[in-house]
This record gives sequence, structure tokens and C-alpha cells, in this order.
Amino acid sequence: MKKIETRKCPLCGGTMVKSKTKRGGYARFFWAPPWKSRTTGMLKPIIEATPWLCLDCGAVMAFVDDETRETLREEYEKERATGIV
Ligand SMILES: [Zn+2]
Repeated sequence: MKKIETRKCPLCGGTMVKSKTKRGGYARFFWAPPWKSRTTGMLKPIIEATPWLCLDCGAVMAFVDDETRETLREEYEKERATGIV
């Protein structure tokens, strides 16, 4: 059996399950960095987030994967250090 990815719901502490896909039809969650980023480019101007459903309170929230988040965090710290952000 394939391992189902779960995480703790930040709202109620319940169990969240990751969606199978990032998009359904036109619906999708995304985010665009307000600085020049290594995570985006001409062909990929946005970062796609994956929706998670909380099985306890029913909230659906989108999260960016850890690797991308780490990169953005580093970039943000760098931007902040230069006084631009
Ligand atoms: Zn919840």
C-alpha cells in the first residue's frame, strides 16, 4: 500500500491528508514570489501549492513542498538583509 502523506492541521490539530493532485480543472493554489527567485522563471512564473484536507474540521489548505519553501525562505532572508523587503 502506498504511504498516505499526512500532517497536523494548524487550525484544530487534526489529521490532514495531501491531495492526489495539485489541480482540478481550473482550480489551483499558487504563489508568486515578490522578488527574483530561483524557484520561478520564464516558463514557470508561479509556485504551485498542493491542497490538504483536514479530516477533523474539513478545512482545505494549500502548502508548498518543503524543498521549495526552504529555498524561498533563504531568498527572503537574503532580500530582507539587503533592505529591499
Ligand atoms: Zn482541522
